[in-house]
Amino acid sequence: MTTTDTTVKLSLRDLPRTLGASVHHDIAWVVPEDLGTSAMWVQPGSTLHLEVDLTSVDEGVLAQVSGEADLHGECVRCLDPVTETVTFEAADVYFEKPRTLAHPSAEEEVPEETRMVGVGDVVDLEPLVRDEVLDLVDPLPLCRPDCPGLCPQCGVHLADVPADHHHDVIDPRLASLAALLGDAGPDEEMAGGVAPDAPIVEEGTTPEPSTREEQGRGRD
Ligand SMILES: [Zn+2]
Ligand SMILES: [Zn+2]
Repeated sequence: MTTTDTTVKLSLRDLPRTLGASVHHDIAWVVPEDLGTSAMWVQPGSTLHLEVDLTSVDEGVLAQVSGEADLHGECVRCLDPVTETVTFEAADVYFEKPRTLAHPSAEEEVPEETRMVGVGDVVDLEPLVRDEVLDLVDPLPLCRPDCPGLCPQCGVHLADVPADHHHDVIDPRLASLAALLGDAGPDEEMAGGVAPDAPIVEEGTTPEPSTREEQGRGRD
């Protein structure tokens, strides 16, 4: 296996230029910055293993590249890290000289980007791999298909709380009472010593248990 730096340019020195002749390369490519998108990317500095076959064809060299990459990103709903392993296969012809269409016509589509054999008889595989990885990137990654996301009120992971997690919109006239009871769920209320069947406070009395307790401690 050949380890390259962050460029992945292969010399065609070893490739016989007889039609159909081919060479195989095992490449360990040190991944450069920005391989992917802001949604999902390959960790820069990690090593990507590429299997490359270069074959002499009519007008140049056919490059076939395959590999496996770990894409990293964030779940768009809950922001948890997401990792996805993708395998890719790419193939394209690198032309020896600029391509001229034999019978150009208005209807014939000229390829937007033609890959060329570079100066010094090399093929640069980076754009080929880059295009392929971009195609595989999920623009909206999810930690799991049914990720419920975050609670819009308190930001808790909805996957970690009971399905009935919600926030009551409290009538302002009852807000002070709600503050005394706290925002705890039923289990926490019981743990705090408030029995679910606590006697109903009689009319005319002020339900201020916490204040009274404090005053009692003060007297002791
Ligand atoms: Zn998620
Ligand atoms: Zn919430």
